[in-house]
Amino acid sequence: MYEVFADLHIHIGRSENNKPIKITAAKSLNFANIAKECNDRKGINIAGIIDCASPYVIEDIENFLKTGEAYEIQDGGIIYKNKVCIILGSEIETSEIGIDGHCGSAHNICFFPYLNDIKGFSKEMSNHIKNITLSSQRADISAYDLIDIVEKYNGILIPAHCFTPHKSFYGNCTDRLEKIFKEKYSRVLAIELGLSADTNLADNISELEGKTFLTNSDAHSLPKIAREYNKILVEDISFKELLKALKNEDGRKIVTNYGLDPKLGKYHRTYCETCGKNIPGVAPVTKCDNCDSKNITMGVYDRIQIIKDKKESKSPANRPQYVYQIPLSFIPGLGNKTIEKLLGKFETEMNILHKLSFDDLEAVVGTKNASNIVRAREGKMKVQEGGGGIYGKIE
Ligand SMILES: [Zn+2]
Ligand SMILES: [Zn+2]
Repeated sequence: MYEVFADLHIHIGRSENNKPIKITAAKSLNFANIAKECNDRKGINIAGIIDCASPYVIEDIENFLKTGEAYEIQDGGIIYKNKVCIILGSEIETSEIGIDGHCGSAHNICFFPYLNDIKGFSKEMSNHIKNITLSSQRADISAYDLIDIVEKYNGILIPAHCFTPHKSFYGNCTDRLEKIFKEKYSRVLAIELGLSADTNLADNISELEGKTFLTNSDAHSLPKIAREYNKILVEDISFKELLKALKNEDGRKIVTNYGLDPKLGKYHRTYCETCGKNIPGVAPVTKCDNCDSKNITMGVYDRIQIIKDKKESKSPANRPQYVYQIPLSFIPGLGNKTIEKLLGKFETEMNILHKLSFDDLEAVVGTKNASNIVRAREGKMKVQEGGGGIYGKIE
């Protein structure tokens, strides 16, 4: 067995013939470019692309397979240049009863072994979604029903960025996933932590003890691929092996989660929409102490303080380590030009962030930048917390 890197939440901006898929994502983010970026620059071996249920994307995949550059394998997944396995996925927004008794909505990332499976899924979901060609559309069903449809096409369902305030289970629907999935809860193998949470925060909730944690990028542009990722122990790169890793089966497992310091995430602390800033104070902050407004966007950190049911965060024995990583673009003084220079010399961002010595870095980007990269790696940078849709900052 060997270790590979996986990022399972990558969007598509446009199809090859320029049809919009995810409107807020970059135009260069198409199926073929993602495969290339993962191979050439990111060092990602398993890439979950989660806009593959769009009929435009399905067409692109079929054309990509025809070029001979990529092929489907029996164990599931599409292999590109023998180094990247693309997992076909779809992000679906389900309709739930919200915390306040009104509408709630939650994102689910669903993965399938074969192109034929996701085609069937796409067709069936077009009965539940108004515009199946677009990304992350709202379906008229709950995740309780969605999981059956996903499994009918041999897929798996994973609650996405599951603490974020607007589109997630814990953020705006429920305090317990078990209330949503009921007797099907054991079929949920894993959850995605999201950029504003980490393992330590999630392990405040006892129903998550048996679930695998995933750290994925939710990339809306090529450079953002792998800003969070997982190191996985597998025998090969395929859908089947990934599934085993999520189940902790036959020695396959997630070895390490790499993710942002959650303070850097866009929704870490509660934000006052009236004052336009984070509200400081002891969590949970539920209203603004400045203008008294309740027009707030709840922070992930604050929300977890409300819903936690453990006295203190304690991880189960088999929980992988969560390693903070600060992407190059967050490091002060590193502009696009310097980042290009680094990538030109050292190939992947992973090498630069985790492996290279101070001396190697200094030779290319000078003392100050090299020292900032190393200090970020060692967790020595001071972080200003994010909130209300605005990323945190390195001071
Ligand atoms: Zn989402
Ligand atoms: Zn305020």
